[in-house]
Amino acid sequence: MSSTAAFTDNADVVNYINGSIVTPESTEKQAVFNPATGQTARHVVLSGANEVNLAVSAAKAAAEDWANVPPIRRARIMNRFLALMHEHTDTLAAIITAEHGKVFSDAQGEVARGIDVIEFACGIPQLLKGDYTDQVSTGIDNWTMRQPLGVVAGITPFNFPCMVPCWMFPVAIAAGNTFVLKPSERDPSASLFMARLFKEAGLPDGVFNVVQGGKPAVDAILEHPDVAAVSFVGSTPIAHYISERAAHFGKRVQALGGAKNHMVVMPDADIDRTVDALIGAAYGSAGERCMAISVAVLVGDIADTIIERVAERAKQLVIADGMNPKAEMGPIVTRQSLEKIESYIDIGVKEGATLVVDGRGHKVAGNEEGFFTGGTLFDNVTPDMRIYKEEIFGPVLACIRVKDLGEAINLINAHEFGNGVSCFTSDGHTAREFSRRILVGMVGINVPIPVPMAWHGFGGWKKSLFGDMHAYGEEGVRFYTRQKSIMQRWPQSIDKGAEFAMPTAK
Ligand code: NAD
Repeated sequence: MSSTAAFTDNADVVNYINGSIVTPESTEKQAVFNPATGQTARHVVLSGANEVNLAVSAAKAAAEDWANVPPIRRARIMNRFLALMHEHTDTLAAIITAEHGKVFSDAQGEVARGIDVIEFACGIPQLLKGDYTDQVSTGIDNWTMRQPLGVVAGITPFNFPCMVPCWMFPVAIAAGNTFVLKPSERDPSASLFMARLFKEAGLPDGVFNVVQGGKPAVDAILEHPDVAAVSFVGSTPIAHYISERAAHFGKRVQALGGAKNHMVVMPDADIDRTVDALIGAAYGSAGERCMAISVAVLVGDIADTIIERVAERAKQLVIADGMNPKAEMGPIVTRQSLEKIESYIDIGVKEGATLVVDGRGHKVAGNEEGFFTGGTLFDNVTPDMRIYKEEIFGPVLACIRVKDLGEAINLINAHEFGNGVSCFTSDGHTAREFSRRILVGMVGINVPIPVPMAWHGFGGWKKSLFGDMHAYGEEGVRFYTRQKSIMQRWPQSIDKGAEFAMPTAK
């Protein structure tokens, strides 16, 4: 695809409205970095209300026709988009690595998980099928259908610039809505790349639009009267803000927030597999995953062995530019995020946690200006410490020692976040008790990062999700549609005369 050139050079990252690249009137821009070198790679334009208005107008103009396209034909366009996403996975993954920093194989995995949702959305004719009851009363039938909402919007975080948008727009668009995406300004290019592929797949202009920017663009979306629903994924304070503002303006909203994910290690856990799982889940993607494990809850006397083994591995992590095939962990997305992560390590030391492995100040030869930090490991963390309570969103693993399963469950249930959790054990009863009693939305048993598959839906509990419906899966379809119930009879079966009593089945 000739248009890919625009995403690997230093051209500004602009908006995509009504099927075309659009440069906003405002000349405000923000640097987009290559985190591995620390250099500015390009700039992203920062749109305001004018550009949001343009995108929503384009989406509104396209909405009626798109909603009238039979679902099977919408699914065929989705199928072509699916094929193009497969074909261009490596280009898209390279774009992600260049702006986010995650290692290339991880970026490929992210694209694959986004593709899963596109594949799910290809089944939209089946997913939109309604219920039908023949003869609810003599000569009367009743059925339900699900119809699109109109123009809907998505606001997404930096850590999955392909996968998280794919949690939203394929389902929304397959269901017959038109979409305005406001991606993260820190790694904005992946969204434009996908918009181009979707057009190539045959998507009519105006159905999918991308507006670049920060808070002003978000506020303009929230306030726009023609936007019917907003999906958000990001940090908890912003998720809370989005859910309140969207509700204030009468919009349907789902806002997925931050996390502090625990992994409980029982004394009967398989030690080798547990250590492998902890290393991957705590330090993979430099801990910049909403499902990363940031707390290990070590039960009983297994603690010393686990800490010793994880420390050994954390010190040996291969930290490098994400395009280096040997890299296990890449850089942090920006210098600002790096400084925030390292300041939490300072806080942990001051709070009295035992710093077993210190990742601060890590330098990568040849990439000295890159935003790198090493893997960090704390022992003897307690529930009152900020490094336990707050989301750090970096490669920092905090270990808490507890005496039994009950104490582990109480600890986790008292935490304000409830995104993901995991329990490593070889005992079925422990696993069952844990799954039933834990107050967390997504649970893994010997699975460190239990991100549900595309047809199951994703969502945490407590301050990890504002709203009642999860992203993608059947809940995603329900979020982007509304149910209509139709009751019908024909003149031959209408009784003569007015009825004044409540109609009942006859
Ligand atoms: P963020 O909250 O800073 O940004 C998310 C989006 O909100 C971006 O598009 C950004 O431009 C916009 N935004 C930022 N500040 C805003 C403001 N003041 N008003 C309106 N909009 C604003 O999040 P991030 O740093 O990009 O992503 C990391 C966070 O996202 C972490 O907290 C992580 O746990 C969370 N996350 C959660 C999930 C989940 O499924 N629960 C998934 C991925 C990431």
